[in-house]
Amino acid sequence: MIGARVMTEGLAYSLKGKRVFVAGHRGMVGSALVRRLASEDCEIVTVGRDRVDLRRQADVEAWMDAHRPHAVFVPAATVGGILANDSRPAEFIYDNLMIEANLIQAARRAGAEKLLFLGSSCIYPRDTPQPMVEEALLTGPLEATNQWYAVAKIAGIKLCQAYRRQYGCDFISAMPTNLYGPGDNFDLQSSHVLPALIAKTHAAKISKSPSVTVWGSGKPRREFLHVDDCADALVFLMQQYSEEMHVNVGTGKDVSILELAELVKDVVGFGGEFVMDTSKPDGTPRKLMDVSRLTKRGWQARTELADGVRGVYRWYCEQLLQVT
Ligand code: GDP
Repeated sequence: MIGARVMTEGLAYSLKGKRVFVAGHRGMVGSALVRRLASEDCEIVTVGRDRVDLRRQADVEAWMDAHRPHAVFVPAATVGGILANDSRPAEFIYDNLMIEANLIQAARRAGAEKLLFLGSSCIYPRDTPQPMVEEALLTGPLEATNQWYAVAKIAGIKLCQAYRRQYGCDFISAMPTNLYGPGDNFDLQSSHVLPALIAKTHAAKISKSPSVTVWGSGKPRREFLHVDDCADALVFLMQQYSEEMHVNVGTGKDVSILELAELVKDVVGFGGEFVMDTSKPDGTPRKLMDVSRLTKRGWQARTELADGVRGVYRWYCEQLLQVT
């Protein structure tokens, strides 16, 4: 399930023989990056949360000085779905500001050649014309439910730009759309919509429940990218991209939440109905990326949503078998 790439003569930044630090390697994106980087001729370095708390500057600087990576990927972040964002605003803004500022500053101090910072499509204003182009950043007010996370991620983009301008650091930013895949968070209070629907629909099938609750109106539209495609795009950008402007990473296609719920229902094999819980927020009406900056350079996503959801459902069932 790797994204399609055009073979390019002579990479702009080769990872061959390089020490590559993946910050946040236990997360869904970090672990996909470690899987993807295994096929590059590089040394992958990681550190567990028990040894280095990325929110603590002294810890991060000491670790980075000791390991001196050539290249740094920054998928590390405090993440969560619409309810988690809305109910834990301090964690979402503080953790993410600290993690990114510490890693970016420590990477510069330790002489890293290249860094890729990861954000999210929620950086764009709530009412951005669709599909959203990179230039739409900071052109209007943010969606209220995830503004804390969005402000932190916008600051991360600006940090990379500022370090590029003042210190000449080759630090770039990628903004993936909503991601899904193995290793996702299936906890209903803090997860994103896709793992939540898989967990709820599976539970309803097993308990022979007649219905599954879907939050909001079901009308918002979202774009979903498989995390293995995302990791492939991030490695591609690390090798091929070196500009100040952040880059959207997605499929360029979206579905409504109700369409997604129907797809999950088919994959899981659930025969019941959906009940809408309109006491829960809808969030942004639509988040569809314009991905032409990336596709023009020769990369595009390959995993069809239905195939991706089938794969994640298989993975989820395997995990359930392991805990029972
Ligand atoms: P968002 O993209 O930041 O809004 O994050 P989410 O993935 O959490 O939510 C996307 C959309 O799915 C929102 O409109 C939610 O209200 C809707 N949704 C429907 N059912 C659920 C659910 O069970 N969990 C979550 N997290 N969202 C749901």
